Amino acid sequence: MANWCENCDRPEEGEVCAVCGAAMVEPVVEGVPWRWRFFIVASVIYLGWRIYQIISWIVH
Ligand SMILES: [Zn+2]
Repeated sequence: MANWCENCDRPEEGEVCAVCGAAMVEPVVEGVPWRWRFFIVASVIYLGWRIYQIISWIVH
């Protein structure tokens, strides 16, 4: 599996990037941003639900 140079945004077969000379690291699955997005969406849904409960409690 090819490495990925984040500086050049291109795959690199060798240990060092042929374009910028940066040392290659293991290909990283972009799981952190996805988890962050999920966390933010979950927080917004939770807060919306709490606000809805508070509003309905005040109205009734
Ligand atoms: Zn590079």
